[in-house]
Amino acid sequence: MNSEDVKAIKTLLSKRQKIVIVPHKNPDGDAIGSSLGLCHYLETIGHDTRVIVPNDYPKFLKWMPGTKNVLNFEKDNADSLAYLKEADICFTLDFNQLGRVGQMAPLLGELETTFIMIDHHQAPDDYAQITYSDPEMSSTSEMVFNFISSMGDVHKISSEIADCLYAGIVTDTGSFKYSSTTSQTHRVVAELIDKGANNFEVQNQIFDTNTPDRLQLLGCALRNMVILNDYNTAYTSLSQEELDTYNYKKGDTEGFVNYGLTLQNIRFAVIFIENKEEGIIKISFRSEGSFSVNDFARSHFHGGGHINAAGGRSETSMMETKKFFEALLVNYKEQLNI
Ligand code: 5GP
Ligand code: MN
Repeated sequence: MNSEDVKAIKTLLSKRQKIVIVPHKNPDGDAIGSSLGLCHYLETIGHDTRVIVPNDYPKFLKWMPGTKNVLNFEKDNADSLAYLKEADICFTLDFNQLGRVGQMAPLLGELETTFIMIDHHQAPDDYAQITYSDPEMSSTSEMVFNFISSMGDVHKISSEIADCLYAGIVTDTGSFKYSSTTSQTHRVVAELIDKGANNFEVQNQIFDTNTPDRLQLLGCALRNMVILNDYNTAYTSLSQEELDTYNYKKGDTEGFVNYGLTLQNIRFAVIFIENKEEGIIKISFRSEGSFSVNDFARSHFHGGGHINAAGGRSETSMMETKKFFEALLVNYKEQLNI
């Protein structure tokens, strides 16, 4: 964050403000961890702060301190509207285009409040008065740590803040495995543990709270996997019927797409997940190396994300989506065979 922006934010925060924090739709660990971490910090320095999520998030994130005060725009619509309309400042976290908040987008677009974006996706839109964007960062949670540090307030990081930011960094780095993990990420994490982050307990809450149904669903996704050796690609799918068979709950398919990449020589992994209610196929893309799934998702599936992790959707049937996907691969053979 540059010194001019820090100065502007310090001025804004020099008196008590009404602040809302909004992460992207279908919030993941980084979206919730960064939002709640920032919320606790802003409360600590005397502001009236609320996190408003566009829709619900998975149970494995609901242990986070402050989760009970989070407003869900879908479920708590009247309260959410009241907070949004009164807000002096709106922090938007972990997304780069207003469209990523789904149904909240038209409302946010009309708000006459000061927007501050903190985000690590490429090519941010220009809707915020202050934009702290850095695609090199492991996670928005690491950026919230940097923000608190720029404010000269690392000593104000409590164990609650530390737990939230640690959770966000752990989930967005695949437990410090992805190439976005830097020595600085580890320094930030070390500092968070010193500030009281319960690292073992947080990992346990996120990764070791599976239900038998979820493991059966994973088994189903692994059985459905199609390996296309010519393209160093593996894809899988889950139909609505399969999701129903294993009593799918929000968050149950998190991380399934990564299994394709654990195969030797596979550099591109995809999962297609049917959502009958919305009438779409939700898609997650992952890659290893230089193949940009961000570009791929943007170009063909109304989506985006990062170079190695992106999402998108299709409005045709599962069968047609897969056919379309396989046909596209022909154009990417060279890029995928590096
Ligand atoms: P996931 O596959 O885990 O849902 O998302 C991976 C990454 O892609 C995340 O950074 C997420 O924010 C981004 N992403 C997921 N779905 C979409 C989408 O529909 N549009 C855009 N622009 N980004 C997405
Ligand atoms: Mn993130």
